[in-house]
Amino acid sequence: MREGARTQGGTWAQQATLLRVAAIVSAMVCAGCSTAATNAEKATRAATPTAAAPAAAQPVTATSVAPGDAAPPASQTAGFDGARAWEHLVKQVGFGPRPPQTPAIARTQEYIKSQLANYGCAEEDDDFTAHTPIGALRMKNIVAKVPGTGREIILLLTHYDTVRVTNFVGANDSASSTAVMLEMARLYCGASPAHKLASASLWIAFLDGEEAQSVIDGKAQWTDEDSVYGSRELAARLAVSGDLKRVKAVVLADMIGDRNLEIRREANSTPWLVDVIWGTAKRLGYGKIFLDDRQGPVGDDHDPFVNRGVNAVDLIDFESGNTFWHTPQDAVDKVSPRSLAIVGHVLVESLPGIEKHR
Ligand SMILES: [Zn+2]
Repeated sequence: MREGARTQGGTWAQQATLLRVAAIVSAMVCAGCSTAATNAEKATRAATPTAAAPAAAQPVTATSVAPGDAAPPASQTAGFDGARAWEHLVKQVGFGPRPPQTPAIARTQEYIKSQLANYGCAEEDDDFTAHTPIGALRMKNIVAKVPGTGREIILLLTHYDTVRVTNFVGANDSASSTAVMLEMARLYCGASPAHKLASASLWIAFLDGEEAQSVIDGKAQWTDEDSVYGSRELAARLAVSGDLKRVKAVVLADMIGDRNLEIRREANSTPWLVDVIWGTAKRLGYGKIFLDDRQGPVGDDHDPFVNRGVNAVDLIDFESGNTFWHTPQDAVDKVSPRSLAIVGHVLVESLPGIEKHR
């Protein structure tokens, strides 16, 4: 994702500096405004779409978590098991860099599908070809579907690809939110009455290709055309099938694993949906994590839905001194099971309010 998707002006260097000083709330920055690559560069990259180097990541176990970062017992977070989510995070990081159409993302897809199968989730794949600045890439959206008795759908989103930066293993961006959504799938695909919506269907989409594929000098060159491929594909598919009209709310999580988690109200998100979730977080005692300050707009996977008039919210921490964003330092030492548990807890407790909202 990127900050300031609807603005033009600024450079990557400016954006990096702004990120370092955590002062980008009102900055007019743009990740896609750098000078275009030469045709030769484009041709080179097009020929090597799987060029990301293997990860140097060390094996990580739950024992490397500091006591303050541990997840509370699931009984204290509405059944959401932060320790299980953490295992999903560590597993994904262990696959190494996971850009589209690489062996590592194929392993990630197999992992997501095998977990969903274990939980008894009905699941649908959408294999599609994305036309990117580095050539045509095969991508895959994976959608778990928990059927309800009513017409409405609540749609949860995460992306599971990682940015095409060498040695980037994406513990926060994108393993954290994908880990949370896998644990959500376990809870809601199971038959527990505590994790059952009144009548709406709950769909959980694991999206490919959120990141810009064009990377120059280690910086992703985000544009409206080179980003959110999986989300655009899903929104378009649902529009064609007619299901988009049934979607009452889209809840996107992205980069929610930061040890010092701070999630601000994102400017392009639907206000009532933000209010329901932030109200729930406050009631649960997470007022210092779900902050009332505003951020963005942040360009992210919710945008294709917002653009089609669907209620959507982006839960993202993009401003809490996240200097490791899109660098190889986005590793497990930057994220915590506790943060995953808190976001999962808020999601579980927010769903009834989202469903009831009229
Ligand atoms: Zn990213």
